[in-house]
Formats: sequence, C-alpha cells, structure tokens
Amino acid sequence: MPDGESTTETPKVLIIDDSIDVHRLLTARLRSEPIEIVNASSGLDGIRVAEDVEPALILLDLDMPELDGFEVLRQLKDNATTVNIPVLVLSGLTDSQDKVTAFDLGAIDYITKPFDIIELRVRIRAALKLNSLIQMLNKRAQIDGLSGLWNRKYFDTRLKESVDSVARHGRALTVALVDLDHFKSVNDTYGHPAGDTVIQGLSRIITEHSRSTDVCCRYGGEEFAIIMPDTSPDAAQIVCDRIREELKAKTWSRHPERQITGSFGLVGVSDGSAVKSAPAAWLEAADQNLYTAKSNGRDQVVASDMAAPKVRLAEAG
Ligand SMILES: [Mg+2]
Repeated sequence: MPDGESTTETPKVLIIDDSIDVHRLLTARLRSEPIEIVNASSGLDGIRVAEDVEPALILLDLDMPELDGFEVLRQLKDNATTVNIPVLVLSGLTDSQDKVTAFDLGAIDYITKPFDIIELRVRIRAALKLNSLIQMLNKRAQIDGLSGLWNRKYFDTRLKESVDSVARHGRALTVALVDLDHFKSVNDTYGHPAGDTVIQGLSRIITEHSRSTDVCCRYGGEEFAIIMPDTSPDAAQIVCDRIREELKAKTWSRHPERQITGSFGLVGVSDGSAVKSAPAAWLEAADQNLYTAKSNGRDQVVASDMAAPKVRLAEAG
C-alpha cells in the first residue's frame, strides 16, 4: 500500500509569536493536548520552521516587529510547501477589518487576545480534525480504488521529481512498466470480477516485492508502473523477474486452469549525471522495452540503460 503521511504521528502545532509570555502560557495550558508544540519568536523564523517541520496547524500572532502576521500569512500562502497548512490567527487586534484581512489572506480562524483557553483548545482540536480529513481526502485522490496502488496522476508527479533528482544528483533510477498478458481474454472468458481479482493479485505481488521508497502505481487498465529510486536497471531486473515468476506461479481460485503472466519493460541508469532526459522520454523508452517483451513472446522482462545509444537513438526518432 502507498506510504502517505502518517496519521498516527502526534500533530505538530507551530506557534509564531514575538512574546515569550505567550509561548510559555500556551505551552503550559496546552500540555494536556495530544500535540507537539514548536515555537518561533519572529515572522521570519516562523516561515522557516513552517517549511522545515510542516506542522499540522500554525497559531500566528499578528502584531510582531519586522515581519507582521499579515505578511507572514501572505508568504505562507504563497509557498507551495506551506500553502495548505491551516493558520489560526491569535491577535490583540480587535478591529473587524483586521479579521476580514486575515480571513482574506487564508486564515481559517481568528481568536482575540486575551484568549479563553478552553475556547482556544476547542478551536485547535477542530482545526486539527479538519486538517486530517483534508489530508486523508488528498491522499485518497491519489490512490487507485481497485488496486490500492498510487494512481497515474500521482505517478506523473513522482516520475518528474525522480527524473529531476537523478539528473541533479547523479543517482541511479529505474522505471518499470508492467502489462498483464492477454488480459482482455481473462475478462472475456471468466468475467470482469475475475479480471479485477487478477489486477488485485498482481498489485499485491508488486507491493510485496517493492521497498518503501519504490512508487508502485496502477498506470491504466491492466498496466502498472514502478518507480525505483537508487536502483540500477540490473538490480531492478532481478526484482521484476521475481514478480514475474510469482505471478506466473500463482493459482487463481476462479480459474485454476488458467495461468496469468505479465510482460515488463524497464529503463534505468546507474549514474544519472549523464542523463538529461525528460519524463516522457523515460516512459517512451520503457514502453518500447515493454513492446519488445510482448513481441518476443510475453512473460519476460526487457531492460535497457537510459544512457545506452540504442535508447538514445530511439528517443531521437
Ligand atoms: Mg505580538
């Protein structure tokens, strides 16, 4: 199953306030809450810490020297890492225009000082609950319902990140495309529930053979994709061959007489520093190897090096 953000971790709450007294007071009064408090005593520091620890909630003071709360809020909402972190504004300012401005800038709640600690606790709990629901929905939107693997949208995002990082740090990377052989005939002969079971079965085998850093996806119908960071094509080929063998050896209760096989197209590099290809070129190269595996009789793994001349020529064409 995909590894998302852990929901069992104690949520971090970042307090950005220039007053040491506020930090002391909140730390003492929120001690019984199931949260971990992180403190920042200036706007600049707060933004840096928010990027660093990605808290579940930020309590933000408005009245601070240098960078005030409004400007901090603006910058948090302008930053891809921090834009989705809910911000609860704590302020001594009671002017309703300030409240309107804070909400306009993206605050989810506003509490005026001196605050009622019971009310603050309730509002913190409500904000954290909302945040965890949003996170869960975001994660669900990236998971394929049938297989439980990541979906294609998520794959596309992660492939781009992986390819960029390989070129920048010169690391190894392999991308695998997997396609079930004669899948249409499984559906036609035994019905779609049988086909669904095969998709779930292969998903389980892929998951069992992958590491937590691998990104396993259902790419489309009967096609799967695996991003294997820090893995050379040779090493990835061994892993994919194990998946292939286990799939072939599996007995299916709905059709014990019918073996299921898969074809694999892999492309990778042991040292990414020489490879400047875009994600689309990686997919195209993996797809060509998948095509070769199919036309050579299926039930096999075909791998190549992204830096090899054959693949470079193929890309150019
Ligand atoms: Mg202040």
